[in-house]
Amino acid sequence: MTQWTDLRMPELEALRETVRTVVIPFGAVEEHGPHLPLGTDAFHALELAARVGREGRVLVAPPVYYGLCRSTREHPGTISLSFDTVRALALDLGREFHRQGMECLVYLSGHAGGVHMAALTEAGERLLAELPRVKVAVVNILDLLREVLTERPELVKSRGDAHAGEVETALMLAARPHLVQGSAPAEWPAFPKYLLVRDKRRHWPGGVWGDPGAASADQGEAILEAETRRLLRVIAQMEAGDP
Ligand SMILES: [Zn+2]
Repeated sequence: MTQWTDLRMPELEALRETVRTVVIPFGAVEEHGPHLPLGTDAFHALELAARVGREGRVLVAPPVYYGLCRSTREHPGTISLSFDTVRALALDLGREFHRQGMECLVYLSGHAGGVHMAALTEAGERLLAELPRVKVAVVNILDLLREVLTERPELVKSRGDAHAGEVETALMLAARPHLVQGSAPAEWPAFPKYLLVRDKRRHWPGGVWGDPGAASADQGEAILEAETRRLLRVIAQMEAGDP
């Protein structure tokens, strides 16, 4: 039993004598093309957290489904938080899980947007400054996957995959197949360099960044498995290191 919300008080009290790490999944509520669910990023983080929770001595926190989204902002379905809200949420949750005995905090984000990740990192840095015994990891799943691909490049066939493309389609085919509806045409958006764009949808009509057609459920399973191994190593490294 690894889900924080499934435990009774005495079980949690006993477990925290030996378990030092909590994984806090973060997602985003945003468009993922015409074929993937709006909760794709949270589903990915939840699936990975659950797998790590089954194999490691960690607890899995209830997820934060929302995140900060920028380039998908004008597409139907995207519900974004502000930078300050993401940072404040991460900070409050970190303080609370630490107060409840968790020494190691893993913020696991299924959404890899730069500003969203900066908000989580800012919260993590603040926690390090105020809590002398806390250890923090801020992990986004795209970075984790990039590392996995340096060892196993054959796992992804198409180039320039970033959003609702081959990787996320494969992951959802493995983790939430009932929520995938067919596929979508390959697309790579054409945002101008340096310019901030008001009408984002004009430059990115389909909301796909990559080639969903190349995805398969077996591939998604292999990616999830590789990500799980890598994240377990991150957690072992964090638990073994100095605060
Ligand atoms: Zn996504």
